[in-house]
Amino acid sequence: MKKFEDLGLDPNLLKALSKLNYEDPTPVQEQAIPSVLEGRHVVACAQTGTGKTAAFVLPLMQRITRSSRKRPIPHALIVVPTRELAAQVEKVARVVAQPYQYKVRSVVGGIKYKPQLERLSRGVDVLVATPGRLLDLIDDRKIDLSHVQILVLDEADRMLDMGFWPPVKKILSMVPADCQKLLFSATIGKEINKMVGMYMPDSAKVEVARKGETAQQITQSCMPVEHGQKADLLLALLSQRSTGKTLIFTRTKRRADMLSRILGKNRIKSQAIHGGRSQPQRTRALKDFTTNRIDILVTTDVMARGIHVDNIDTVINYDVPVSPEDYVHRIGRTGRAGQMGDAITFVAPEEISAFRDIEFLTKSLISVVDLEDFPYKEGRIVPSKKRSAAKEKPKPFQHRSRKKPSRPTSRPRGRRR
Ligand code: AMP
Repeated sequence: MKKFEDLGLDPNLLKALSKLNYEDPTPVQEQAIPSVLEGRHVVACAQTGTGKTAAFVLPLMQRITRSSRKRPIPHALIVVPTRELAAQVEKVARVVAQPYQYKVRSVVGGIKYKPQLERLSRGVDVLVATPGRLLDLIDDRKIDLSHVQILVLDEADRMLDMGFWPPVKKILSMVPADCQKLLFSATIGKEINKMVGMYMPDSAKVEVARKGETAQQITQSCMPVEHGQKADLLLALLSQRSTGKTLIFTRTKRRADMLSRILGKNRIKSQAIHGGRSQPQRTRALKDFTTNRIDILVTTDVMARGIHVDNIDTVINYDVPVSPEDYVHRIGRTGRAGQMGDAITFVAPEEISAFRDIEFLTKSLISVVDLEDFPYKEGRIVPSKKRSAAKEKPKPFQHRSRKKPSRPTSRPRGRRR
């Protein structure tokens, strides 16, 4: 395994790495950084959680050169699908930009236009943007992409899913022809390949996680349960096990709110975060979760890609996701950068088929776990005959020791006992 020192990085950046507490490069960093430093276009198939942000932010800072300090003419542009991801990328970029004193700014939708403009007018070297707001600024002639030296398209598949392809193509046509382009995506489909062929000839290909591949350090299990018993099962699970910092996914915003209320009534602190909440509410909920003021965040798939919170111990799929690829993204919130994680999926009879699709995509049989002493009602369906043995012989859900128990516990965890 290579060290950061072997990748051709500037010694100034190595200092920034120690601030981020990164000791060794992750595979995507090891593969992508040298190619970016060589000035090549790079297409990286890497899911979130692999360390992809630093894989582009580090070499990007080293490569760009500054020509103007004040005007809103970015030298590097990082386009991301969601505001949350923009905030996370900006955070890493700020640390890495420090040795060069580059100005990192972000422009995203959902927050006021004017303050963003004011900050931009004070100069920008590296701009992190969501496509919609960026295009508004371009249309208003508030930003000029004619000096962009490096363009990063982060989570390109997500941008495609979210209907951002037309703005992305427009952005691609506006940056200089010789602009170096880096594309990061969990999956690379036909549409993305077409775009790569058009705008990124001779690109270096980096692949660390194939479509449907899940991080190996995540222990996956499913709990078959009747639909109407899901809330009770969750409460029982939370009282029996120490699930640590937990992200719970529901199918709809309404169910996320409902679940958060149920948890509250049972004196379990949580917050719901989804597209139906205002930006300040979302920011506050995420902050409470990252700072360990709450241990449980309930969310929907819209948020799945955007959330970057370190040390998530458990992902609970309260509802099976409709799209099997969302499952991979959901559980990718845990088991990040070598840490251990648990992913537990509640499977109601009507969700068996969606659950099988997940197993098909991930090429795995997800083990069935029953909760001890839980009064399961008749009618639940265990996903596969092969697992009926596990059903008869309930396996207590073991909480393994964590590789890095680095999360400071902000309060006693007695409520779960
Ligand atoms: P990303 O895939 O960029 O979202 O990164 C996932 C997580 O891995 C983030 O919490 C990063 O802080 C962390 N990370 C990224 N690179 C490294 C590294 N080389 N060593 C340790 N942690 C890392």
